[in-house]
Amino acid sequence: MEEKHQWPMPRCLSCDRRMFITSQSTSQNEKTGQHYVRTQYACPHCDIWQRIEIPRKIAADLIGGEKYLPPSIHEEPASIA
Ligand SMILES: [Zn+2]
Repeated sequence: MEEKHQWPMPRCLSCDRRMFITSQSTSQNEKTGQHYVRTQYACPHCDIWQRIEIPRKIAADLIGGEKYLPPSIHEEPASIA
């Protein structure tokens, strides 16, 4: 049975506090077809924002299974190029 793991939470580059997730969605590289889980983090103390795109396969391993990922979005493909 798969166990859900905590999503990786980066620390702020400035104050070293743990950042917050402000949004999470699926994106796609139109050239390669690769799907990513896009997560945006913010530090409210410093107003620093960070976005990371993790391939869905790697994200599934990190979180403990595909079922914990946000649904794959096809109607709104966002290029990361
Ligand atoms: Zn900060």
